[in-house]
Amino acid sequence: MTKALAMVSGGLDSILAAKLVKDQGIDVIAICFKSYFFDESNALRMTRQIDIPLHVVDFSEKHFEMLKNPKHGYGKNMNPCIDCHAMMLNYTGKLLDELNADFIVTGEVLNQRPMSQTKTSLDIVKNESGYSDKILRPLCAKNLPQTEMELNGLIDREKLLDISGRSRKVQMELAKKWDIKDYPSPAGGCKLTEPNYSIRLKDLLNHSQNVEARELELLKYGRHFRVSQGAKIISTRTFDESQQIRPFLSEKDLIFFAEDFNGSMVILIGNPDEDDIAFAAMVTGRYSKGKDEKLLKIKYGNFLGELNMRLAIKPASEEEISKYII
Ligand code: SF4
Repeated sequence: MTKALAMVSGGLDSILAAKLVKDQGIDVIAICFKSYFFDESNALRMTRQIDIPLHVVDFSEKHFEMLKNPKHGYGKNMNPCIDCHAMMLNYTGKLLDELNADFIVTGEVLNQRPMSQTKTSLDIVKNESGYSDKILRPLCAKNLPQTEMELNGLIDREKLLDISGRSRKVQMELAKKWDIKDYPSPAGGCKLTEPNYSIRLKDLLNHSQNVEARELELLKYGRHFRVSQGAKIISTRTFDESQQIRPFLSEKDLIFFAEDFNGSMVILIGNPDEDDIAFAAMVTGRYSKGKDEKLLKIKYGNFLGELNMRLAIKPASEEEISKYII
């Protein structure tokens, strides 16, 4: 039986491409990727709806290395989509033998995205993947030259599609026809396409030689303030956020709370000096119910240790806050 590996991002297009191939009687295994910036949760949700197995590849470290200097640059934010796609195709290509599969399926649509899905970009991705003659793009196959798989009769070109452009009309109709209801917005799920996350990531890369995985996780929570080359403040916005962030804190980090008022948990990471500590206390005051007090007591200490240090401060002003916020 012919077998295909369908690269599934977690969005609608890639699942439609997989389904189109599955409906030709081909055995389809979904492949999805996990990195510091996206995970398998959407892909799991989508593959269940068309009943195909999912194989998750964790390429976090290699992906992060690529992200620091992508050959084809970034999109609108810190998303290096061309390099990222080529990398995913290369990893999937390497799985062809291991999983005894014949070819790769992707959900790309010609001219749907300005950076990564122009004809030139599709060609770059294909050529740089190292598996150019094993890639089938079922949603726009009829707009592209015939592939080896079509010529060899592994798949029927007549049953493939000719979608092109940004309209989602055909995809919506197919989703309805196949009863696929639960899908995220296009590119949803990749932090690298989010403007705020991208600004923080750029700041981190500019200030740290050896970025730790936990620092990338921390970028997802709270408000961030760059106070010096070696130190950064994070102020959590809700109680839930102050709980969710805890697994990514280290014993070296300092945490701050206002002593007599409810408010944000503030974290100081890196190698802070006395001024950084004082400003973290001022930020803590600003994001507490005591923000209008003239003088406020702030308690702080190392995460997991005792909060046995105290500072009396004046809460930070809007002007001070806006000077350092990332
Ligand atoms: S949106 Fe994110 S996951 Fe998708 S190709 Fe671009 S960088 Fe990679």
